[in-house]
Amino acid sequence: MQNSFNIAVFQGDGIGPEIMAPTLTLLDHVAAGKYALNYVDAPAGAAHYARTGESLPAASMEAARAADAILLSAMGLPDVRYPDGTEISPQIDLRKALTLFAGVRPVTIRPGQPTPLALTGGQTVDFVLIRESTEGLFHTQGRGEVTQDEARETLLITRAISEPLFKFAFDLAKARKAAGRGPGKVTCVDKANVFRAFAFFREMFDAEATKHPDIAADHAYVDATALWMVERPWSFDVMVTENMFGDILSDLGAGLMGGLGLAPSADIGADHAVFQPCHGSAPDIAGQGVANPMAMILSAAMMLEWLGGRHDIPAMIADGDRLRAAVEAVIAAGHVASRDLGGSAGTSEVADAVRAALA
Ligand code: ATP
Repeated sequence: MQNSFNIAVFQGDGIGPEIMAPTLTLLDHVAAGKYALNYVDAPAGAAHYARTGESLPAASMEAARAADAILLSAMGLPDVRYPDGTEISPQIDLRKALTLFAGVRPVTIRPGQPTPLALTGGQTVDFVLIRESTEGLFHTQGRGEVTQDEARETLLITRAISEPLFKFAFDLAKARKAAGRGPGKVTCVDKANVFRAFAFFREMFDAEATKHPDIAADHAYVDATALWMVERPWSFDVMVTENMFGDILSDLGAGLMGGLGLAPSADIGADHAVFQPCHGSAPDIAGQGVANPMAMILSAAMMLEWLGGRHDIPAMIADGDRLRAAVEAVIAAGHVASRDLGGSAGTSEVADAVRAALA
């Protein structure tokens, strides 16, 4: 087949394999006859570490590097740790090794979706938070200096990462506007009133904004953003922020969406991208067949849209959109809901409902 893509698949730990299997079946179903997705299994994670002493084998890293895109479910188990007590999280190693600077966290609330917000009649929320994912306050992660009396971590903001990050944000706003999903606006979320590093961040954002006269640009302080995400989340389109601020705000976003079972994500760099649900490996429900596969399926839909955009294949972009719409249709109908959404449907029942909604 002319359009054929290698996808590195990290099945991961806990519920990881349970939500990955139906997602791959759905991907094959939508791709049938139009393009081929070849899955390359990439063993990694906490269980793998417990068995072999390696959390991210070189061969899996190589498979990720060589792939057209990377699908990852969830990795890490609370009881399996490195000797220094830190968690096994190869997904963070991948982010660093492949310089995946743009953490894309869509926040959507559609009709029928449980949310702690009091939305009025048919009101929906649809914005994207972009979290820089390689530097910021995570720069000294694992290397902070701690003495008896004080502790230090360093925040790093670089031009080399910030400029492509902001370009990515404006390009995304443009694509969303073209697809009728947003007004075409990017908000820089920072703390430029207090820290010089964030004034520098904002300066580079403003410079990029001048190159996109068709897209509105504004700024917000991170504390006010937390408030507005709850008070008027519909006013955002694309937001872009530093690593730690994004870490916190993306969990707030997942909370607004009614929990982790519906929150997809992508970590995108210049040459590689990882697509994975926001949730972890949920060891408390692993092996029971009750995990909600929707966040994994929505992440796979983002992968189709990204691959389609990158390789100029409109059918792939359309399929990503179809897959997302099918998940939203199942949520709106409300007949088939997994336990986290207040229902009793199992993983395969939810996946079957999504497949039926595709037709
Ligand atoms: P990590 O630190 O690895 O991201 P976490 O602390 O965020 O993990 P999760 O593994 O995401 O924890 O689980 C948090 C809670 O959400 C658990 O009770 C888990 O069962 C539930 N949960 C997470 N993902 C799903 C899912 N796909 N379907 C149903 N419940 C889920």
